[in-house]
Amino acid sequence: MKVTDIFGINVFNDITMKERLPKDTYKALKKITDDGKPLSESVADVVANAMKDWAIEKGATHYTHWFHPMTGKTAEKHDSFIEPTGDGTVIMEFSGKQLIQGEPDASSFPNGGLRATFEARGYTAWDATSPAFLKDDTLCIPTAFCSYTGESLDKKTPLLRSMEAINKEALKLLRLFGDNTTKKVTTTLGPEQEYFIVDKHMYQKRKDLFLTGRTLFGAMPPKGQELDDHYFGSIKERISAFMKELDEELWKFGITSKTKHNEVAPGQHEMAPIFATANISTDQNQLVMDTCQKVAMRHDLACLLHEKPFAGVNGSGKHNNWSLSTDTMNLLSPGKTPHENAQFLTLLVAIIAAVDEYAPLVRLSATNAGNDHRLGANEAPPAIISIFLGEQLNDIIEQIKAGSLTSSTKERTMKLGVTTLPVLPKDVTDRNRTSPFAFTGNRFEFRMPGSAQSISGPSIVLNTIVAEMISRITKELEVAEDFEETLSTILERMVKEHYKVIFNGDGYADDWVKEAEKKGLPNIKTAPEAIAIYNDPKNVALFEKHKIFTKNELEARQEIMFEEYSKIINIEALTSIDMAQKEILPAVIEYITLLADSINSIKAAVPDATVTPQTELVKNLSDLLAEATTRLADLKIKNTDTLAIKDVNAQAHAYKFVVFEAMEALRKPCDEMEKLVSDEFWPFPTYIDLLFRV
Ligand code: ADP
Ligand code: MG
Repeated sequence: MKVTDIFGINVFNDITMKERLPKDTYKALKKITDDGKPLSESVADVVANAMKDWAIEKGATHYTHWFHPMTGKTAEKHDSFIEPTGDGTVIMEFSGKQLIQGEPDASSFPNGGLRATFEARGYTAWDATSPAFLKDDTLCIPTAFCSYTGESLDKKTPLLRSMEAINKEALKLLRLFGDNTTKKVTTTLGPEQEYFIVDKHMYQKRKDLFLTGRTLFGAMPPKGQELDDHYFGSIKERISAFMKELDEELWKFGITSKTKHNEVAPGQHEMAPIFATANISTDQNQLVMDTCQKVAMRHDLACLLHEKPFAGVNGSGKHNNWSLSTDTMNLLSPGKTPHENAQFLTLLVAIIAAVDEYAPLVRLSATNAGNDHRLGANEAPPAIISIFLGEQLNDIIEQIKAGSLTSSTKERTMKLGVTTLPVLPKDVTDRNRTSPFAFTGNRFEFRMPGSAQSISGPSIVLNTIVAEMISRITKELEVAEDFEETLSTILERMVKEHYKVIFNGDGYADDWVKEAEKKGLPNIKTAPEAIAIYNDPKNVALFEKHKIFTKNELEARQEIMFEEYSKIINIEALTSIDMAQKEILPAVIEYITLLADSINSIKAAVPDATVTPQTELVKNLSDLLAEATTRLADLKIKNTDTLAIKDVNAQAHAYKFVVFEAMEALRKPCDEMEKLVSDEFWPFPTYIDLLFRV
């Protein structure tokens, strides 16, 4: 197999389009993707037909409008191409209309009250900027999903809107810098995906893993990750075979899977593609997650995408490498000329200001139930938003703050537009792994998002807040008499105001939490608290101004997030109850009974034999059993009560602070019992089995 032969064979990509479409149609389609021009039905007809022929040649029988509902997964409803001819036969048909728009029954997707149940209709609309692809004999057409009234019900629409917003604002800025040629500024994204691999049969024996994605019980194994022998270690043969097939499948989808390695925790791995535009990258990351799980199953393995499958062991994140780019240059590369440097510094300051001013939103964008276990634990960035710049850039920012840009003395150390920035070594600028938002030479790496999350949300927030800061800058620059003078003043002011968000130290240190608090940086620890700020007036104003979300859409999204959080904890609670009641308690009872019987028979056989060890064990286990039983009853009551709470905000908070706590309290005696019960009696695979027996 040659990689070049299989790369992109399952994508209706640019080359295929060039080959298969009449020149005019191809050009018209390019205009749509490049300039956002509307699509005429006649063009769509031709494209649809070419797509269908291509797909059928490759064995496809169905097509689907593939979309990203607010579940964070992708959805597809397959329709076959067949069209009856009336004489008992069929032909294969696919019209432009079918390509452009679909009408899935949308009543079963989260909508946060945006769509009354009597109006179940939802629409999917072709997103021509992301290529169609073939999956499981089905032609998949990336689409946006909205309600009858046009409100977005998905994760793609707002992403496209936010890319448009930043494009608009960044172009204005470039024009002010005298750039009259750049037509478009795109957001680029390279997501590094972490995941765990466990044996499929062990996975299937654990209800918690296959129902909730994480272990709800499990004592720490004697060996964890303390030896650091896994990270970048040689890859086990079974895993290696899985990764090889994963790469091949991804390459066929045109996904530039580039890097793979073992991660810090045993059983943990990472894959990273080469970056693409945010829109395509987001679609592709969904495919990556989907493919990881499918390919793993083929190898009798299970891929865990959850942010924290194992307590006490590192969790999984998704590092979102984010930048802005024109056709010809990465705008976050420090330039070679003073002019480019000034532009770079302006964008840099805009980003710093954006992340500081909208820190709660940035935090929110990395929020889901799973990530709560990760953020702030001793492995991932804390829930405090800060920015790492590296030594060289930090120096420059310090100088701006000190006013050296505007000082008129002869000693002015630097002046915008005159300064030559040091060439920042790429990638090596940052080996500070503890920062949630780090500059890495030519991009920012946002490290907070969770491994199972769609990367759409973090990009929507970043794009929008940066668009906002750029717009504030351009507004002042547009009326400036002296461009350079004004720019210097703006940058100095912004740096002074937002300098507090810059932190180059150890983000894992306890001191940092205290220091951050002193500086007034928010530390939003839990998901419900983060979700609660979504519709703050400041955020509503921001999203409405840039036409990302209406107030309605925002409120709907908030409601969906609260509901999703509550549902997840509810499922976890019910699964904990089920496992404790039906697996753990019976196993322990069986084991103690065996011990008790053995004590009796030993005593009968040899009256003066010592049975202290067995007796102690029965005593300890019986105490723990009693404790677990009490906790179990408590969890049942608390979960039932919480389920009945009507207000979504109050309910999510109760799930976090009441039910979740009760689950933890039940887990404790259960994990203690696991340590005491014979392996043979323990009802499901342990951490040792899951993490080391692959
Ligand atoms: P590391 O582990 O050192 O952070 P990786 O090589 O694992 O680095 O991942 C880096 C990611 O950053 C890759 O997906 C890469 O394509 C992406 N990247 C590089 N340049 C850019 C850019 N300009 N915009 C967005 N992502 C980028
Ligand atoms: Mg990496």
